[in-house]
Amino acid sequence: MTEESTAVTHPFLDLAPLSAAHFASVEDRVARLLDTRQDVVIMQGEALLPLEGAIRATAGPGTVALNVITGPYGQTFGDWLRDCGATVHDLAVPFHTAVTAQDVRDAFAEHPEIDFVSLVHAEAATGNTNPVAEIGAVVREQGALFYLDAVASVGAEPVLPDAWGVDLCVIGAQKAMGGPAGVSAVSVSERAWARMAANPRAPRRSYLSLLDWKERWVDAGRKALLHAPAQLEMLALEACVERIETEGLETVMARHASAAAATRAGASALGGGLEPYVHRAAEAAPVATTLRTPPGVVASELVARALASDPTLPLAAGGGALAKEMIRVNHYGADATPRAVRASLAALGAALTDAGRPTDLNACRLAAEPAWR
Ligand SMILES: *Cc1c(COP(=O)(O)O)cnc(C)c1O
Repeated sequence: MTEESTAVTHPFLDLAPLSAAHFASVEDRVARLLDTRQDVVIMQGEALLPLEGAIRATAGPGTVALNVITGPYGQTFGDWLRDCGATVHDLAVPFHTAVTAQDVRDAFAEHPEIDFVSLVHAEAATGNTNPVAEIGAVVREQGALFYLDAVASVGAEPVLPDAWGVDLCVIGAQKAMGGPAGVSAVSVSERAWARMAANPRAPRRSYLSLLDWKERWVDAGRKALLHAPAQLEMLALEACVERIETEGLETVMARHASAAAATRAGASALGGGLEPYVHRAAEAAPVATTLRTPPGVVASELVARALASDPTLPLAAGGGALAKEMIRVNHYGADATPRAVRASLAALGAALTDAGRPTDLNACRLAAEPAWR
């Protein structure tokens, strides 16, 4: 009798290698989600990889960039652009609002030589969302290249690179798509590929390089991968897109819109001094709702108190200086549900009451509930 091996198989570990055909099929699925005919390149890292890679590929000393800042990511993009040698005009708007197409039009009037525009669609960190379709029309009229961070909007609201004239549209799966954080994707227009090819400073033979993927993967017919793919993350990305297809993208987006509307209405009715951080509902992102604490209540302390009652709630304080005054309700992915929103508001209400600010949970529930109809 022969001895059987005693090695124990494991669901995550003993997988066949991910084939090039399988990898390409996941790219095609992401392209369908974005309704784009552009090349979609899946990158083997968190979304910062294509965000940085796309800027370093397209920007150089000859670039004149308009960098829109509506939160911390816009700040980072400006730093990369300057590091590439670009001339950068920052257009910063207060975090409680959004940028307008007119703001962008005015910037072009002042600096007609602008040939690159960077914009964050929605900012989970500040809770605002920008009118990309309208801004895209202005950018296209001016012939500039349009770079968009859609990590926090994809799955929560429409993201349509082709219809909006976006040349570089970066997504990650870890927010409203309810997927993995370790892979990301960028759709690339022909114009953007041409800009990269003409840029002597674009990363080549580098992990940051988009051109490597263009030359050795896209143009070579997607037959052989550049390196072993992040297999678990690729499978998780495929599963999460499949789950969105099954539920229906419209339904997933509607869940996020309802979660945002319910949080906004519920927080306002809760009392205790909480207010929506973003003044106008139309400028508030469906992915996450930010709230302003009343004077004398430190947001990070209130959140810590709320999380002590239930550490699984999707609550966080704002980053950096915002930790004093901003609460983030991260009602995305699996948390874009009535239960998660209700529990988050109830925990914040209890924490406010503990802090000597009476709240009315019943009024909160009544105000939040219609958002789900
Ligand atoms: C969340 C997010 C990202 C990804 O960043 P993480 O820090 O990895 O979550 C990028 N851009 C925007 C606008 C985001 O909201």
